[in-house]
Amino acid sequence: MSLVLVVEDNYLNLKLFHDLLVTQDHEVITSDGRDVICIVEAQHPDIVLMDIQLNGISGIELIKELKARPDTSHIPIIAITSFAMKNDKIKIIESGCDLYLSKPVSINQFFDALYKFIKPAHDCKHFSC
Ligand code: MN
Repeated sequence: MSLVLVVEDNYLNLKLFHDLLVTQDHEVITSDGRDVICIVEAQHPDIVLMDIQLNGISGIELIKELKARPDTSHIPIIAITSFAMKNDKIKIIESGCDLYLSKPVSINQFFDALYKFIKPAHDCKHFSC
């Protein structure tokens, strides 16, 4: 069973990602951008899905901080953003995230990205089975 941390300040997006993950039997914890470092250090998620445009803080800064800490640097981070600008894309990739997805993210893209880093909870309930 994998524990996924979803960081997203838009409630509907957060609920969508949460519900998709729960349908595949993942354990999910969420943050709107607050206390992310503390949550990761306390809960040790298997992967972090990180929105970039957060309320009052940049996901880029959070990624840099998580990747700079010896106790959290190994945790894969998928950046999910609506930024379309080329410069922002470079900044996001340079932040140290393991993968970058642009919104809107299809269900297939979402799980394909996720399962590059964690195992599905089981084989047969996967959406593409
Ligand atoms: Mn956002």
